[in-house]
Amino acid sequence: MDRFNIPDYTDFWWDTGNAAERQKIILENQTIPALLFAKETVPFYREHYKKLSVQNIQDISSLEEFVSVIPYITKVHLASNHPMAFVPQINLSEVDPHKGKYFRFGTGGTTGTPILIMHSMQDWRGMSRTADRLIEFDFYEDLFYRDNFEFQPGMFTFQGLESRTTPLSGKRILGAYNADHITNGIYATMLHRLGSDFYWRPSSAPTVEDIYDTARQFEVNGILAPPEGENNKKGAFLKDILAIDAGRQTQWNLSHRYNKAFQFVFWSSMPISEVLLDHLMTDRQIPYIKGHFGSTEVCPTAATCSKQMRNFHLSYGHSLVIIKKLDRDQMAAPDELGYALVSKTGATDMDGNNLPPSGMIFINYMTGDGARLSKDGTPCACGRNTPVLYDLQRIKFHDGKAKHGCQTA
Ligand SMILES: [Zn+2]
Repeated sequence: MDRFNIPDYTDFWWDTGNAAERQKIILENQTIPALLFAKETVPFYREHYKKLSVQNIQDISSLEEFVSVIPYITKVHLASNHPMAFVPQINLSEVDPHKGKYFRFGTGGTTGTPILIMHSMQDWRGMSRTADRLIEFDFYEDLFYRDNFEFQPGMFTFQGLESRTTPLSGKRILGAYNADHITNGIYATMLHRLGSDFYWRPSSAPTVEDIYDTARQFEVNGILAPPEGENNKKGAFLKDILAIDAGRQTQWNLSHRYNKAFQFVFWSSMPISEVLLDHLMTDRQIPYIKGHFGSTEVCPTAATCSKQMRNFHLSYGHSLVIIKKLDRDQMAAPDELGYALVSKTGATDMDGNNLPPSGMIFINYMTGDGARLSKDGTPCACGRNTPVLYDLQRIKFHDGKAKHGCQTA
């Protein structure tokens, strides 16, 4: 089982590391072991990688080579295979204390074919840990000193992992995504770990009014909501919730400039407009605004930069994101528009041990999203050294989505 012991490094301080060292770790300690694991234990990849020898895989010496050697997969592959074909055929009791207990999520939308996605408990833990590490970074580096923010430090021990701060201790965050949307679930896990309570309505599609009333009732400190848009397949839009608030003089007025109770806005998986961002920061003076980029398949893989809030820093940990050229199976040049390929490379058990993923495995999975990636190794003004994903295009790539599939749930 040695080479199945894939470190996921969810606790690794990727953000401040040296680029060359980081890429070496990602390739040698995560990507290649994940590939070997998939080829040996996952029915779909056994077939899909038939022409690849173990030697081919072990000889991959760069992420560029990884993209050109390892065939990508799309939603079409998911639709035409049973979900269990993507799950490793291993004795789960050996690697997963929950013995195969899965979270299940449907995905669908533009392609019209609903697809079942399953994450094991340990994968879920690794994914949520990656996401909340990105929030912790902000608190350590910056947020503590911002105006209009009340910081409540606290410490706790997570099952053998080192002590952590709980920067959101005592806070109440409301989820405005539809109840069955994966975003509510993953945020519930990560925000609890950071010390916050998290509420969401059981209704499958809460209205804007529902969310606004609940926000007032629970006197929440923050909200998780899709920012804005035309249809409400994801949930109640932040922009519409704020519009109700602006039109009322109530006891619980979210727009009150001196209302320190309302401090957080979170969103996931879509760009936010300059106009709305400026409104949140300038008119509402909300001290902490955080977006994640992710998918139902691999969950959060990047989080917004605190200086350039429409850009996303790659997170690593449980996942790898690469931008592929639009027309060739090669890595896109820095700043070149391409397709995002995501891979699930690690997980964490209850004791903090690093393990291979045990839910559905995605390697070089094309989400259908377009994006550009900054040159790795260029330090960012926010203090992070990880590459920045920007010019995210979830809507412009309809052709790509129809052809390659994309999660839109
Ligand atoms: Zn940054």
